Parts: sequence; structure tokens; C-alpha cells
Amino acid sequence: MNTRDELKLDPGTCTVSLPGDLCEMLALASRNTGLSEEQLIERAIRRFLPMDGKSRNVYLSAPMSALLKGVYEENTTLGEIKMHGDFGVGTFNDLDGEMILLDGQVYQLKDDGFAHPVSDSVQTPFACVTFFDPTTVEDVEGELDHAAFKNLLYRLIPSVNMFYAIRIEGTFPYVKVWSVPRQENHRPIQEVTPRVFEYHETRGTVIGFYTPEFIKSLASPGYHLHFLNSELNHGGHLHECRMSEGRISLQFISTVELNLPATLDYLTANLI
Ligand SMILES: [Zn+2]
Repeated sequence: MNTRDELKLDPGTCTVSLPGDLCEMLALASRNTGLSEEQLIERAIRRFLPMDGKSRNVYLSAPMSALLKGVYEENTTLGEIKMHGDFGVGTFNDLDGEMILLDGQVYQLKDDGFAHPVSDSVQTPFACVTFFDPTTVEDVEGELDHAAFKNLLYRLIPSVNMFYAIRIEGTFPYVKVWSVPRQENHRPIQEVTPRVFEYHETRGTVIGFYTPEFIKSLASPGYHLHFLNSELNHGGHLHECRMSEGRISLQFISTVELNLPATLDYLTANLI
């Protein structure tokens, strides 16, 4: 880590401390563009922060098609993923379980059905995250079977051509989830057999995303949902459920940020 240099903005308004390399880059950019350092910082902040307080973008650490082609190892850490969101789903290197990022904490949903918090140094080949900030909230009462649950989720979205993040806190008379056992890198995903778990009369959180069908190479098309129980110790990829009551929060997303990994595995994969 570079030493941190203090950079003063307008006196009395703001003082920030930046790593030395950023201060050098800032000075260089200022010379190259003719813009002051203050102007450059303002532009960077305006670009990075949502101006109305609402997050409007989703971040994908890699295209889903790489995972589907057996690229199960990337050098992306969960610490890096958390720079782009506090909410999301994904998996871990070597396909070692399902991932939930909930309120800034990552949980690994292993193939024994148990969920564990994991550290920021763990790596992932695929994660889809956002800073969750719901656009709409809907309370649900009365039992919904799985078909009615799915119908409701599709009724809530105004267009199938957008991305949405969804969070459901609720009571579930029945939940069926799966998780995948750790795999050799490059093993065809069609050969991977998930382990299935069923839970009855449980409370918990369902989180995930809706992805439009036309960009299925980036993320699972339709709803891709994971479940974590309220004790935070069981969960998995949601396959089926019945819900008796709950609150559904939906965030409309209009920008997709896609990272393309610079690893040899990714660069040499045939993704067609
Ligand atoms: Zn999943």
C-alpha cells in the first residue's frame, strides 16, 4: 500500500486522504486535461455515487457463460466484490457452494446444506451484486404455492427487458434448495449433480436478480434466487417454495457493469 497523502479541497469544506499513487495520477490527469484536481475529483464522485441516493446498477464479476463453460477459478476476491455491492448472489472458486451477499456479509451455502460466513480473501468465479435500495415494496399475506409465487414475481416487474434485484423476507411452509459440491476446474457443468435440501415451516430471506432472456450469456435468465434462513445457518439455490406471508422489495436496475477477467483460463475459453 502506498503512503497516504493529504489532499486539501476548498478550505473549510472537506479534507481527504488519498493513497500516494492516486495523488500522482490526479496531478498527471490535471496536467493532461487542464482540469483542476478539485474538478477531477468532483467528476469522479459524481460518476461513482448515485445522485438521487438510489443505486441503479448491477455488477457482474464475469459473464455467466464462462462459468457454464467450466471456468470455475478466477482471482476475484470477495473483498473486491464488496466494493460493488452489499447484496447479491454467486458462487465460489471450484464451484464450492452457492453464495449469498446479504447486508454486506457473504455466506457460503455448502453442499452439506449448512451456511457459513466467509472472509474477504475467498475468491469467486462469478458474482452478481448491487447496493440494494428498493424501488417498490409489496406486502404479501395468504399462502402462495410455487406457481402463484412465481406468477406474483413476474406480475411485480413492469417490463421483462430490465434487470431487477429482489429481496423477500418471509415465512415459508416449504422451501426446496440445492447446493453444488466442490468441482475440478473445467469439469463440464452438465456433469455436476447438485445436492437437494428441503425445509418446512421456516423463516428466511430470498434474494437474487431477474435477468432479461436476451442477455443470458451474462447472468441466469429469468429469476435467479438464493435462500438463507433467519438463523443464517441453512440455505441454497432456491428451486421451489411456498410462502405464507412476507415482504417483497424490488429494485429496478438500468445499468449493467460487466467485468471481463484477465486470467488465462478466461482469455482462452471458448464462450460461444
Ligand atoms: Zn444459484
